[in-house]
Amino acid sequence: MDCLFCKIIAGEIPSTKVYEDDKVLAFRDIAPKAPTHILVIPKTHIAGVDDITPENSEIVSHIFEVIAKIAKDEGLSGGYRVVSNIGEDGGQTVRHLHFHILGGKKLSEDMA
Ligand code: AMP
Ligand code: ZN
Repeated sequence: MDCLFCKIIAGEIPSTKVYEDDKVLAFRDIAPKAPTHILVIPKTHIAGVDDITPENSEIVSHIFEVIAKIAKDEGLSGGYRVVSNIGEDGGQTVRHLHFHILGGKKLSEDMA
């Protein structure tokens, strides 16, 4: 499958790993939009939020447990933002479910 993030999971493309377990991988975004910018992805290919179903949704709660752990480890005690872009209008460029963790500064209040 021609999926950038599946290639990162397979180790075919290098990444700066922040956290890994049997179900998820977290790594630093190559073009950070904030001092801390980390992507958290499931190791199984799910194209995006629109493809979350009762059969695979368990991974989402796990991802959010991992996000909370990473935020603590990264010292984001003042707060941070979690974003998932969906589809064309949402600005999704990689069609593998991912959650951005953005923090390390006072973030813009501009959501859209
Ligand atoms: P999105 O636009 O929400 O689909 O997010 C995709 C993100 O992946 C962007 O923030 C990119 O900067 C990031 N990205 C693209 N290629 C890589 C890569 N090889 N390693 C790390 N992050 C990447
Ligand atoms: Zn993939």
